[in-house]
Amino acid sequence: MSNGLVVVGSVALDSVEANGTVHDDVLGGSASFFSTAASYFAPVKLVAVVGEDMPEEHLQFLGKRGVDLLGLERKPGKTFRWKGRYSADLSSRESLDTQLNVFADFKPKLPDAWRDAELLFLGNIHPSLQLDVVTQVKKPRLVAMDTMNFWIGGEPQALARVLERVDLIVINDEEARELSHEHNLPKAARAIRAMGPKTVIVKRGESGALLFHEHGVFAAPAYPLERVVDPTGAGDTFAGGFMGYLARVRDVGPQAVRRAMFYGSVMASFCVEDYSLDRLRTLTDGEIEGRYRAFRDLTHFEDVRL
Ligand code: AMP
Repeated sequence: MSNGLVVVGSVALDSVEANGTVHDDVLGGSASFFSTAASYFAPVKLVAVVGEDMPEEHLQFLGKRGVDLLGLERKPGKTFRWKGRYSADLSSRESLDTQLNVFADFKPKLPDAWRDAELLFLGNIHPSLQLDVVTQVKKPRLVAMDTMNFWIGGEPQALARVLERVDLIVINDEEARELSHEHNLPKAARAIRAMGPKTVIVKRGESGALLFHEHGVFAAPAYPLERVVDPTGAGDTFAGGFMGYLARVRDVGPQAVRRAMFYGSVMASFCVEDYSLDRLRTLTDGEIEGRYRAFRDLTHFEDVRL
């Protein structure tokens, strides 16, 4: 794919409470997790905004991972901030505070050379900003998006307009139910497909992810881990591995999409092993391939007749 993978989303300073520990002002945001994960597969171009308080070391980290920061603006004011707390068993989380700060009047502007992008990922930010970016890309092969309950409840009309413009949505089960008003997930996916995206991926945390598209349904499990430290960013990391793999193989066909589900799951399984992006800082290609093979062993079975 000639002009690669572009992502727009939040680059944040998070405060996260999980496993009884609070981590303040750590690097977070949908686009940070996405681009770090995707960078293990293909070059990524990042469109976002940060404030004056974003430590330079965080941007240097993204730069060192090969993330192109030409579309990252630094504006006067404070960086987007999010505060969340997980339940003791890490199965649910509460958003305690969301401060849009510099995102409140952000006008995303794609560098001219990026308008030819073949793959576009609209990470979780205000749906109007997502729409703004879609209209700036000329002829992408695949546009995918994420969103969250904050926008499903708060900006339903803007969200409906973006949904009409995308090919694929990655969404968690709770959000899929809220968006579709359907409890049953296959029904929810069908309802969401009618809103625009022909491919719907429903993330179900430790129960894995389901793919609904014109070729039917496909499932990828989550890797059974003995120790989960911080689930923050797992969804964005899944999306980064998924889209990064498609960019790497230059294929968006149904078989590539199935394999991408596994690379997304592999990356998400690493993400939750440490706080913030920390596990993704030290990850090696060998570890990624090793876990991909472990996933294959986990799900492979012979077709034996009774
Ligand atoms: P995930 O755990 O995959 O849902 O992603 C968590 C990340 O999303 C955190 O690092 C937050 O900074 C970011 N985030 C939380 N709420 C929002 C929001 N309303 N808009 C954009 N990013 C958000």
